[in-house]
Amino acid sequence: MRPTSPRPTLFVLLAIVTGTAPSFAAAPPPSAATEVWSPEPPVVSAPATGIPSDAIVLFDGRNLDAWEPARTGAPGWKIEDGAMVVVPQPTPSDQRTKQSFGDVQLHLEFREPAVVSGSGQSRGNSGVFFMGLYELQILDSVGNPTYVNGQNAAVYKEHAPLVNASRPPGEWQTYDVVFVAPRFAPDGALLRPARLTAFHNGVLVQHDVVLTGPTPNGPTFNRSTLPPYEAHPAKLPLLLQDHRSPVAFRNIWVRELHLPETVPAKTEPAPGAPSGDHPAATPY
Ligand code: MG
Repeated sequence: MRPTSPRPTLFVLLAIVTGTAPSFAAAPPPSAATEVWSPEPPVVSAPATGIPSDAIVLFDGRNLDAWEPARTGAPGWKIEDGAMVVVPQPTPSDQRTKQSFGDVQLHLEFREPAVVSGSGQSRGNSGVFFMGLYELQILDSVGNPTYVNGQNAAVYKEHAPLVNASRPPGEWQTYDVVFVAPRFAPDGALLRPARLTAFHNGVLVQHDVVLTGPTPNGPTFNRSTLPPYEAHPAKLPLLLQDHRSPVAFRNIWVRELHLPETVPAKTEPAPGAPSGDHPAATPY
């Protein structure tokens, strides 16, 4: 809280009236040196119900206009009771956004089939792939043992969730995710890997995890090692997975993030730290 201004004396009031006030202007308090007044953050309205004013709505229950099959000629999904629902295909038909994204905040709601079928990775499998490459797993993980880095809310094969916050099949669940895209140099070298933070049903499940590369899928699935990074565009479509289970989705929106580039040129010593040898900055 700022201190209240002292009550002006009659002398000061007279000085103001006569135009001689500037010579009596009080010096700013020392605390003003650490105040930052600009630039002001953009204003975003965030209603109690509804979505932030700067969000891009990807599905509001009415149509699939923002989506297309990821594979040319493949069928789309269906809309049922305001949800977009996987229509399992012999050759899976993932759906991707027509628009491409880099760094995003994502909100998404999903529902596992109420009629439980299969086990392990075959029970209610889907997933949200950031940039079509980096999967946050969707799975019915209520009483369904599987490898933990492949259960619900895992960054598939890379990071198990901190906790299992899954709701029973048939109930709506939420993901709120911050995904920071990888950065590549013009020659294709990795400058900074992707990072991800996720809340599942409001519970923190991934905290600023560093992705080792794309998550295994398709041609990279049946390998003994995880796929490495390969340079790709700064923005790519978001993708939802058809893994042969009728998982439903609703209320999907993203906010494009405009994050400061935080890769330092070199590490600066912390205040008070001894000068001398300091390791080169780790770019991530
Ligand atoms: Mg999956």
